[in-house]
Amino acid sequence: MNLRDLSIEHLGQVGLLAQRRRGNHIDGHEVVPLNGRYLPVVDPATEMIVAEAPDSEAADVDAAVAGARRTFESAAWKSLRPADRERMLYTLSTLIESHADELSALETLQSGKLRGIARMIDVGAGAEFVRYMAGWATKLEGQTLDNSIGIPGAQWVTYTRREPVGVVAAIVPWNFPLAIALWKVAPALAAGCTVVLKPSEETPLTALRLAELVLEAGFPPGTLNVVCGRGTTAGAALAAHPDIRKISFTGSTAVGRHIGHAAVDNMARFTLELGGKSPLIVLDDADPAAAAQGAANGIFFHQGQVCTAGSRVYVQRGIFDQVVQQLAQAAEGLHIGSGFDPRAQFGPLVSRRHLDRVMAHIDGAVAEGATLVTGGARAFDGGFFVKPTVFVDTRPAMRIVREEVFGPVATVVPFDDVEDAIRMANDSAYGLAASVWSNNLSAVHRIVPRLQAGVVWVNAHNVLDNALPLGGVKQSGSGRDLGRAAVESFTELKSVCMAV
Ligand code: NAD
Repeated sequence: MNLRDLSIEHLGQVGLLAQRRRGNHIDGHEVVPLNGRYLPVVDPATEMIVAEAPDSEAADVDAAVAGARRTFESAAWKSLRPADRERMLYTLSTLIESHADELSALETLQSGKLRGIARMIDVGAGAEFVRYMAGWATKLEGQTLDNSIGIPGAQWVTYTRREPVGVVAAIVPWNFPLAIALWKVAPALAAGCTVVLKPSEETPLTALRLAELVLEAGFPPGTLNVVCGRGTTAGAALAAHPDIRKISFTGSTAVGRHIGHAAVDNMARFTLELGGKSPLIVLDDADPAAAAQGAANGIFFHQGQVCTAGSRVYVQRGIFDQVVQQLAQAAEGLHIGSGFDPRAQFGPLVSRRHLDRVMAHIDGAVAEGATLVTGGARAFDGGFFVKPTVFVDTRPAMRIVREEVFGPVATVVPFDDVEDAIRMANDSAYGLAASVWSNNLSAVHRIVPRLQAGVVWVNAHNVLDNALPLGGVKQSGSGRDLGRAAVESFTELKSVCMAV
C-alpha cells in the first residue's frame, strides 16, 4: 500500500472523509468561526489536506473566554467538590485510553508522528498524566501557621488557602499536541480552573476531540473551550485577554517573550516552556555503544522535534571516533516512512515550512565548514522527510551549534578536559535539559550541579516522569510543567488572619 492509501484508509476511520471541516469548541458546542474562514490541516507524509479548522480571530476568542468565565463563576462549578473533579479526571483518563485508536490516528494524520509514539506518548502517557493530576485535586492544601503578631492581649488564627487562579489560557505547539495540551488542562482542572486552549494551527484535531471527551467525562459545558487559529491572531488575542488570569504556554522562545509581555500587562500569572539546545556530555569511562545509542535516541526520537532533544553531543577524546561512528550507524539504520507504516522508526517533519527551516540549517552548517558524517538531505521527493543528520568539525560560533533546529540534527564535538565540556555545555542561551554519560559516580555528581539546565539525566536522555517538574532556565523559560509544582501554579495563595 502506498503512503497516500495508508492515510486515506485512516481518514475514513476517524470520520474525516465524512466531515472534513471542524469548528471551534465553545461552551460545549461545535461553533463556526465568526469570519467564516478556515485553515488547512496537512498530512506531512503525503502533503494531502486532511481537514480544515477555524482561522479564528479576537471575536471567537472573546466568546471562548466569556464561556470559560461564565462556567468558572457559576454556582454549579463552585459547588463541585475537589473529589468530584478528581473522579471526572479519572473518567477522562479512561476515555482517552478507550479512544486510543482514533486519537493516535488523528495525531499521525495531522503531525506525521509514528502511530506507536502517538499511542505511547500522546495517548498512553497523556492518560496516565491525567490520572496523576486527578489525585492532586483532593490533595491541594494550605498551611496553618503559628503566628507571632505582636499586639498585646489579642489572639490569632492564621492560615493559607490554595484557590483556583481563574480562567486559564493554554497555548500549545505541534510536536506532542495532545500530551502537551493535557500537561496544561489536567492540572488546571484539578486546581478548579476553567480553560481556553489554543492548539497549534498545524495540529488542532486532537485538541477539539479532547474538549468533547472532557464534556463526556462529566465536566460542565465551558470547562474546556478550544479556539483554533494562527498564533498572531487567535493566540495573541487570547494571551492579551484581560479576563485570563494565567497563561500556560509551550513553544518557541521568540513567541514566549510576547506571551510574557502580554501576561505582565494584565498581571496574569504565566508559565513558559520554551526552546532548548540540550547538551550530552559523554565521559570516556562510559560504554561507547550505550552512549551512542543514547545520543541517537536523544536526537532522532520524533525526528528531533522534541524540546529537550540532545542536539549538542560532547564526547571525551578517548571514545570520540567510536561514538561518532556508532551514532552515524544508528542514524543510517533507521527505517524512514509514514507514521502509519508499522516498520517505520522515523517519520516526516511536521510541515513544509519546518522542512525548509531544517534544510536551511543543514545547508548553512555545510556552508560554514562543518563536516557532514551522515544525512543532510531529504529522504524522499514527496512528504516532509529529512534524513537523520550528524555533523562534526563544528565551531562554537556556528549557527548549527547555537540555534535550536528542532529537527534530527546532532553536532558532535570532542573534549579532553571535563572542565571544557562543562564550559561548552553551558555556553548556550538556552538551559532546558542536559545529560551526563559516565559510570564514575563522583565525576557525575561533580558535574550535575554545575550544568545550567532545568532537567539533568544521567546515562539517559528525554525521560520524563509525571511527578518530576519539567522546565528550563535562561532562555528556555520560566516556571514548570508536571509534578506538584505545575498544579500549584494554577492556584493563588490566600492568607487568612482571624482575631479570636
Ligand atoms: P511556536 O512558538 O511557533 O508556537 C507555539 C504556539 O504559540 C502555537 O499554538 C502558535 O500558534 C502560538 N503562537 C505563535 N505566535 C503567537 C503569538 N504572537 N501570540 C500568541 N500565540 C502565538 O512554536 P512551535 O513551532 O509550535 O513549537 C516548537 C517550539 O516549541 C520549539 O521552540 C520547542 O523547543 C518548543 N517546545 C518546548 C517545550 C518545553 O517543554 N520546553 C515542549 C515542546 C516544544
